[in-house]
Amino acid sequence: MKSLLGGKGANLAEMTNIGLPVPPGFTITTEVCTYFYAHNKHYPTTLAKEVFTAIQKLNKHMNAKFGDPKNALLVSVRSGARASMPGMMDTILNLGMNDVVAEGLIEKTKNPRFVYDSYRRFVQMYGDVVMGVQAKGKHDSDPFEMIIEHKKKEKNVTLDTDLTSDDLKDLVKLFKKAIKQNTGKDFPDDPEDQLWGAVGAVFGSWNNERANAYRKMNGIPTSWGTAVNIQAMVYGNMGENSGTGVAFTRNAATGENEFYGEYLMNAQGEDVVAGIRTPLHISELKKARPVIYKQLDVIRKNLEKHFHDMMDIEFTIQDGKLFMLQCRAGKRTALAAIRIAIDMVKERLITDKEALLRIEPDALNQLLRPIFDLKEKDIAIKNGRLLAKGLAAGPGAATGRVVFTAPDAEEWKSRGELVILCRTETSPEDIKGMDASEGILTAFGGMTSHAALVARQMGKVCIVGCSSIEVDYKALSMKVAGKIINQGDWISIDGSTGEVIEGKIPTKPSEVMEVLISKTLNPKKAPIYENFAKIMAWADKYRVLKIRTNADQPDQAVNAVAFGAEGIGLCRTEHMFFGEGKIMPMREMILADDVDQRKKALAKLLPLQREDFEGIFRAMDGLPVTIRTIDPPLHEFLPHDKEMQQTIAKEMGIRFEKVQRRVQELHEFNPMLGFRGCRLGIIYPEITEMQSRAIFEAAANVMKEGKEVFPEIMIPLVGNVLELDHQAKLVHKIAKDVMTERKMKFKYHVGTMIEVPRGALTADKIADVAEFFSFGTNDLTQTTIGISRDDSGRFLLPYVEMDIYAKDPFEAIDREGVGELMKIAVEKGRSKKPRLKIGICGEHGGEPSSVEFCHQIGLDYVSCSPFRVPIARLAAARAALKEVKKK
Ligand code: PEP
Ligand code: MG
Repeated sequence: MKSLLGGKGANLAEMTNIGLPVPPGFTITTEVCTYFYAHNKHYPTTLAKEVFTAIQKLNKHMNAKFGDPKNALLVSVRSGARASMPGMMDTILNLGMNDVVAEGLIEKTKNPRFVYDSYRRFVQMYGDVVMGVQAKGKHDSDPFEMIIEHKKKEKNVTLDTDLTSDDLKDLVKLFKKAIKQNTGKDFPDDPEDQLWGAVGAVFGSWNNERANAYRKMNGIPTSWGTAVNIQAMVYGNMGENSGTGVAFTRNAATGENEFYGEYLMNAQGEDVVAGIRTPLHISELKKARPVIYKQLDVIRKNLEKHFHDMMDIEFTIQDGKLFMLQCRAGKRTALAAIRIAIDMVKERLITDKEALLRIEPDALNQLLRPIFDLKEKDIAIKNGRLLAKGLAAGPGAATGRVVFTAPDAEEWKSRGELVILCRTETSPEDIKGMDASEGILTAFGGMTSHAALVARQMGKVCIVGCSSIEVDYKALSMKVAGKIINQGDWISIDGSTGEVIEGKIPTKPSEVMEVLISKTLNPKKAPIYENFAKIMAWADKYRVLKIRTNADQPDQAVNAVAFGAEGIGLCRTEHMFFGEGKIMPMREMILADDVDQRKKALAKLLPLQREDFEGIFRAMDGLPVTIRTIDPPLHEFLPHDKEMQQTIAKEMGIRFEKVQRRVQELHEFNPMLGFRGCRLGIIYPEITEMQSRAIFEAAANVMKEGKEVFPEIMIPLVGNVLELDHQAKLVHKIAKDVMTERKMKFKYHVGTMIEVPRGALTADKIADVAEFFSFGTNDLTQTTIGISRDDSGRFLLPYVEMDIYAKDPFEAIDREGVGELMKIAVEKGRSKKPRLKIGICGEHGGEPSSVEFCHQIGLDYVSCSPFRVPIARLAAARAALKEVKKK
């Protein structure tokens, strides 16, 4: 139903079906939107008639008539895509209003203030979203708000509610005048024109820049389209016995099972989230209107029972009567998502499988995110650096430099700066800038304001409603606590407490990190960790993929095992050469004049490498460890500036010219396609021999300590089976030698990376020799697409913006190209060895959509950086569950 009626329309229908008080209305389906775009922005011919019939029905239901001045029916027009989309036109209220209708309504309600308040809201919303009268530049204010501010000053009042009906009537005139001035067009008086204008604006907004940006960020297809909901109006602005509110059925920040929301009396529509007046907490409603509160509380529980989820609701009280205007699954922080999922499993509202499908793998980042060092924060506060306190809307700790506009946030971020975006409030056009920021701070708005919702969804640290800051966009500064904070100054914000602090504050690892990594926290005293552990245990129950890690040092390996890694999928041995005392013998090896000299240098490296491998084997304690032979071009190990070259010449007792000449000799136009990977080990076999010996001797030594060891030697950049064959023979020979020397046996495998297209295309032949495959999707991406992994940023970003690639192919596997080669390699490899072990060790191994793809094509494991292991575990479980669901 959602795909046809959109989220809003479908849930309105559901609420009606379960007997909740919903104002009557109808929905123009998403199919009309698709038709509209497929037919050069024309509607289906039958639409006008169908809308007319539906309006007639509505008239009957409401005992009023759309467009009839004596007994007018007013409607709301709201967009509603399948997924909620903050970039789109949202709502127009009180549509159907004009001067005569207003007079008729006054006659009927005897409430001119209500009528003109509704009228001015209508003109304002319509003028903004349909006629496009909005703030011009990033430093300008909204023209309608400016007129209101002017009026309030003139009348010497502070709140909108203090304006009289005459003031509001005047605002209607002023708004219409501003619209005429800005657009050259008159405001439409005919309700039918108004209706079609609004419908057109909803469909039009499906394709505006903001909606497109949002869709891209959230992977929503353009083809889905939006629906339009037209509903009879109910009024929260009829006086003190009326009101409007937004709420979550549970706490969206912490996940606690408590009613959580805000409301305002004598208000309509967006007032609660717009931050014009500071709303009241829902608990106040319990005291002020206990009957309504009770009714709402029952609805909250029924909604959760019906939808099996935490819901975000919008309600209106019209003259003491409650109406539900909207409900949808509530956005929540990762912390809340995990807590709610776990609680709902306990409450038997959902199963553990459903719980896993509710938690986005990337959201786990929020649990692994640093928090402030509390001591440092206390000191800062004691020293008078606490600037203000707002509402804690998105947990975590962020430190950065102040910027005041979304475009500035993006620009500063692109220069590598950490920024905190500070605004009076945010709106949908700010989403890209919010995404670029470490944290977001706003002066207005409540926990359900735009800034709070979007920040939570993005997983950003966020404080809203921090009313003591006064932002001056023109001066690029803000006044707070008697101080002036300028653009570029450092501030720190604590999204868990709402504190805004001057200057930088060091951060501390998260609870999960403290339990698992630094081991400074008892897991029993760490409720967030306990929830994390539960989700991980469920994930492990359902995932099919094994999860390994990319680690080159024992401490990295230990961390990864703590996060749940089941082996090392890639140990890049060359990283070891940069360690203490190792770079010199490495350079000696590269600068050697002949094999003998090279062997001498390698002999110095052997014990050092052996020691590294011993450390890794001990840390992994019997888990498989894939060790790759040397891969990068040799020039990477030599210094390129003259001074450093002189220094090493002196240290090694050789002539500077020799060093210089060798650097020149090693120079390549395309080093990434040059003398690297298995090519090194083939031309200099003694390197592979040394590395193999170090691995096997280390294995023998650690086995002697009583531990199990299972090394897998991996040859990089193989495109031709003969390359692998050459290297494998060397490795097997050394293995045999070490076993004879040590009079013991050990298990090991020799396999290859599949990271050039020829390797994938000839995988059947390669499988004759290889005992396992591991996809190096970093190289496979660059060689398949023909783009450099080091300097493609210049065009890749625009490419993604232009939709040529939906996502950066170095981040998420390009399934059509790279993915196709992977499928071929899996198929061909397993045609020779049906049980051939295949994994992935490119960066994609920790990216959720790529993990899903790896599951789909039948890999055995993914390998990723230690901190992404929990994300990969969850992504793997979700992939398995989604597959079962599909079947
Ligand atoms: C790869 O190419 O995907 C890979 C893992 O190897 P590296 O990044 O070291 O080239
Ligand atoms: Mg590679």
